[in-house]
Amino acid sequence: MKKRIGELASKPMREKGTTVTKNARWSRDELILALDLYMETRGRSLAKDAPEIEELSHLLSHLGQSLGLVAANSYRNMNGVYMKLMNFRRFDPIHAKAGKVGLARGNKDEEHVWKLFSSDPEHLKYVAQFIRNSIKSPQTTLLQNVDDLEIEEAEEGGLATRSHHHRERNRQLVKKAKARALKLHGRLFCVVCNFDFSAYYGDIGEGIIDVHHTKPIHTMQPGEKTKISDLVLLCANCHRIIHSRRKWLTVEEVRLALKLHEYRPMVTIE
Ligand SMILES: [Zn+2]
Ligand SMILES: [Zn+2]
Repeated sequence: MKKRIGELASKPMREKGTTVTKNARWSRDELILALDLYMETRGRSLAKDAPEIEELSHLLSHLGQSLGLVAANSYRNMNGVYMKLMNFRRFDPIHAKAGKVGLARGNKDEEHVWKLFSSDPEHLKYVAQFIRNSIKSPQTTLLQNVDDLEIEEAEEGGLATRSHHHRERNRQLVKKAKARALKLHGRLFCVVCNFDFSAYYGDIGEGIIDVHHTKPIHTMQPGEKTKISDLVLLCANCHRIIHSRRKWLTVEEVRLALKLHEYRPMVTIE
């Protein structure tokens, strides 16, 4: 007989020796996909070997391999996926009401992901679809070599973060964004604080500026072309601030923060 979620939940699960303990901590992307499946099958008692679980297990294994995290395809086996769904169940008021409990163990990020997405199923669907599309896209392997990002991972996960970084570093796009600014304003400056590298440093600052992509990456399909109008120029400081917290700040938010703050010895803003 197949085991159902309800039966397993009442017994303590033995994690020792399973792939769960051997595997790396679940990434944000993986948790989003697991939560998406959880919400999708919320009212049902999903069997441990349900096709949905098998499918997600395959997908996560594929993701691990695409990003060069794992070589073996035993990564995120069905048991691991099933247990992750059980981890989510402990936050679910529907199950608490029914007097059932989920697995008590799990990583902290599960709770964040639950809080962030469970109340907004449409957004969850959207982001999960972005991640699924990205995993299947051959372009994802390009993201393997994105080195130390120095930016906080986006709420929407590592694939969106890498994809953002990748687009901002695209030489052609950077070139076009700079050319556009020069044509429009005759100089390169930060759209937040107005810092102009060449005005400040002279010749050695010529051409120095970061390019930031303002459109949330998860709203773009893999391979979708970046519009130059979605790119803005930022100084390294403002760019760093924008990506300094998990919910990336907007250009407007940093502008406002700078306006409200008194201390600005080097820069002037409008
Ligand atoms: Zn700036
Ligand atoms: Zn950026």
